[in-house]
Amino acid sequence: MHTANPFIENYNFDALQLAHPELKKFVFINEFGTQTIKFEDKNAVKALNLALLKSHYNLQFWDIPKENLCPPIPGRLDYLLHINDLLEKPENVHILDIGTGANLIYPILATQHFNWTCTATEVDMDSLENAQTIIDKNDSLKSIELRRQKFKNAIFDHIIKPTDKFDVVICNPPFYKSQEDAKKQNQRKLKNLKLNPETKLNFGGISHELWCKGGEEVFVKRMINESFVYKNQVKWFTALVSQREHLKNIKRTINKHNPAEVIVTNMGQGNKVSRFIAWRF
Ligand code: SAH
Repeated sequence: MHTANPFIENYNFDALQLAHPELKKFVFINEFGTQTIKFEDKNAVKALNLALLKSHYNLQFWDIPKENLCPPIPGRLDYLLHINDLLEKPENVHILDIGTGANLIYPILATQHFNWTCTATEVDMDSLENAQTIIDKNDSLKSIELRRQKFKNAIFDHIIKPTDKFDVVICNPPFYKSQEDAKKQNQRKLKNLKLNPETKLNFGGISHELWCKGGEEVFVKRMINESFVYKNQVKWFTALVSQREHLKNIKRTINKHNPAEVIVTNMGQGNKVSRFIAWRF
């Protein structure tokens, strides 16, 4: 994890339960005598998230429908901490989050942890409505602006207006190629975790959130091809790449557009390694 990540330490479950008493019913003492929750239980992770958002980030309300992606907050913050390192002058920062989801996690962390201004896009109407409810129920999130992307295959077109300027684009793209692929990979993960294949993965996720035709590689390539058009309005374009094997083709697509700089940053959370790619013109 990034050295500035406050969640590098173990969670303080006493303080978290005080901030959000509903967390209590999910907390137990494990075989090492440490307080914890079952991270494969989506309701437990949801309660932990609300406790973290209340105690660290001053939120009053946060909720997501049960089908939606439940984001692990420390990992999501890690991406933004690395983005912060990319910025030359981290003042008056305006970011654009592509595919914010029902959880609105990046705009929440961007405004509350860094005091950045945030615009966020989404194609799914239900997710957009949920995200708007989170904004409406928290005074501290009022500055976040949501924009609906009406065209599933477009990323920046119809979103970036001629007078817009953004310091950074961030994106956690849908990573599977198809619903079938999502199911298969989930089953493999469950097998590795030695869990019952009938158990739903802890992060949940409705199908369209998790997959798009062609998976993350196609999504990020589409971003790259469109990014060239907006090169004078955006300083840095970035996207998470969950599969390392996709980097080669993604880099090749960026290089076709003569970028000024391309950076791949690795991020480690526990025994999981993830990464994001950043490019500018
Ligand atoms: N940012 C959230 C959700 C990521 S899932 C998180 O990190 O947890 C990817 C999201 O991208 C989904 O909500 C999906 O609906 C959205 N999406 C898919 N295609 C899109 C497009 N063309 N423009 C904007 N959002 C899109």
